[in-house]
Amino acid sequence: MPYQKVTYPTILDERASQEELHREGDVLMVDEPLPSRARPDLVQRTPHGIVVTDTKVTLKGGFRYVDEYFTSHQLFHYAWEVGEVLGEPVKWCRIHLISLTPLQTLLHPIEIRPERLALWLEGAKRVWDEMGTQTPTARFTGCQTRYGPCEFRDACHVLDLDPDRMESVYGRVPPRDI
Ligand code: SF4
Repeated sequence: MPYQKVTYPTILDERASQEELHREGDVLMVDEPLPSRARPDLVQRTPHGIVVTDTKVTLKGGFRYVDEYFTSHQLFHYAWEVGEVLGEPVKWCRIHLISLTPLQTLLHPIEIRPERLALWLEGAKRVWDEMGTQTPTARFTGCQTRYGPCEFRDACHVLDLDPDRMESVYGRVPPRDI
């Protein structure tokens, strides 16, 4: 990319609107599977638009990793797919973080600007296209995270992407138009 960074993104500014997002909204979905089988914990219609909330629990460590959700693939996927299903854009995602020792909670909002969602979708489509080929690139960084394994970890790491062996664990689904 032919650019150098000259300003620091004001991620902390997003926390300023947190109190507003605490307000209740109409519940539209609770742990409901989307066509991709992703399951956002909570989808609400609020005065600020459609909001997706995902709860994460950590044993300890507090909230020191909260800023990494600013670029969370999972949250942008939720935002895009919920928007497709409802036919209206998701404006915000929120991480509801629960730290158990000491017991603390935080509701951390991430604005889903259409420009950033389009940037995410452009990259995601390239990955999906590539994953649909016979020789997908393995992305080991996402295979097992601290939130658990990728749904296809067994396919890639145990069944060696062998279609016959994969049928013992996975059902075939028709390709989706995106
Ligand atoms: S397990 Fe397979 S599909 Fe999942 S992130 Fe890793 S390489 Fe990609």
